[in-house]
Amino acid sequence: MHIGIVGAGYVGLVTGACFAEFGLFVTCVDKDEKRISSLKKGLIPFYEPGLDELVKRNIKQGRLRFTTKIAKAVESSLAIFIAVGTPGRGDGSADLKYVEEVAGEIARHMDGYKVIVTKSTVPVGTGEKIREIISKNLRGKTDFDIVSNPEFLREGSAIEDFMRPNRVVIGANSPQAVAIMKDLYKPLYLIEAPFVITNIETAELIKYASNSFLATKISFINEMANLCEKVGADVHMVAKGMGLDQRIGPKFLHPGPGYGGSCLPKDTNALVKMAEEHSVNLGIIDAAVKANERQKELMVQKIKDAMGILKDRTVAVLGLSFKPNTDDTRDAPSLYIIHALVKEKVNIRAYDPVCAGKEDKVSPKVKYCKDPYDAAKGADALIIMTEWNEFRNLELDKIKKLLKEHYFFDLRNIYDPRRMKEKGFKYYCVGRS
Ligand code: NAD
Repeated sequence: MHIGIVGAGYVGLVTGACFAEFGLFVTCVDKDEKRISSLKKGLIPFYEPGLDELVKRNIKQGRLRFTTKIAKAVESSLAIFIAVGTPGRGDGSADLKYVEEVAGEIARHMDGYKVIVTKSTVPVGTGEKIREIISKNLRGKTDFDIVSNPEFLREGSAIEDFMRPNRVVIGANSPQAVAIMKDLYKPLYLIEAPFVITNIETAELIKYASNSFLATKISFINEMANLCEKVGADVHMVAKGMGLDQRIGPKFLHPGPGYGGSCLPKDTNALVKMAEEHSVNLGIIDAAVKANERQKELMVQKIKDAMGILKDRTVAVLGLSFKPNTDDTRDAPSLYIIHALVKEKVNIRAYDPVCAGKEDKVSPKVKYCKDPYDAAKGADALIIMTEWNEFRNLELDKIKKLLKEHYFFDLRNIYDPRRMKEKGFKYYCVGRS
């Protein structure tokens, strides 16, 4: 079977490569010519473990190809996946301009029955909007079906998440479209991955509800961490004690500097906005969003309270990406904290294992260093922003010698507070007094 994927970003490229690995013939389309010409050579435009090998192998075996021409993908495919970005607008709502643009283009090249699948995260009602756009732009009379198939992969483990998902959600109103989708995902049936088959609106909402619930869990434990600091409790033990209750579960109860990334911040805002438009108050999610903003501010305050005057001090920042194993810095807490420190005239020396070369996305004021020790050289303080594995076993004696003062802000709680104090660091973390 031939399928098309429009948008060769984190989601589109992983989806395309994984479907090709399942044995389908996949045409990936992107309007970014530079991206497509690199991909044709097997060069991946972002960091995702294992993707390089998967893309190269499937290109070589003739199941994966790349183009800037949407016609090539539409004409040869039975199903076309839309995987373009849905960034947040100023008011929090999702901007659907790329999705709508692609729907119109797909329609103009349709020459027979097709299934149009939304992989992008889109507000409830978008499926219907796509149906209208396609009907309006068709060249002749052709049947088609719309499917919502939201994506739940996590950057950093995207291939494993696609190949062994917790669930596959398929929202459709036509049995024919459901049968085609099940056929595409056949290898996952064999490993008994759960399928949730529902209508389009429900599928669209499942994605937002899931991300908003995860964001709420993070904000919840961050607020508990702030209370722990005041009352002498240890947030890790609180999380453990809570998480052992099977109704709660241990995941996403790790305190830190606030959630970031390309999904949770924009999806929580979009869901709150969507509910507002229907006069529904999502007070819990609204509170989770506000708690997240406060958490980032609190981290800056923590640094200020400890160090006093910040002007002309130097801080080493370890980690820029919003989490380990990705080079994605979209809405990363590191950006918020770096910008706040730069505003206070702090000199920043930063290091990240894979974000090098993406400097422009952070701040022109930042000096990029070749490793953690280079970053620490002559700095007054060190901040761990992302829990990359290579930061878990730093040579602490060497770091101590390199730092001018010994402030150590471990915003991911990867070190043992007692040990850090014994080593002579002025050690600060989140939720462990
Ligand atoms: P991305 O920015 O990495 O990729 C989007 C791609 O679409 C870009 O390469 C862009 O050039 C291309 N594009 C835009 N308009 C186009 C057009 N008219 N024709 C062809 N290509 C076009 O975005 P992403 O992170 O892959 O996210 C895509 C969607 O998936 C979003 O809705 C996002 O919320 C959702 N999602 C993302 C993740 C994630 O972890 N990144 C996980 C689940 C869902």
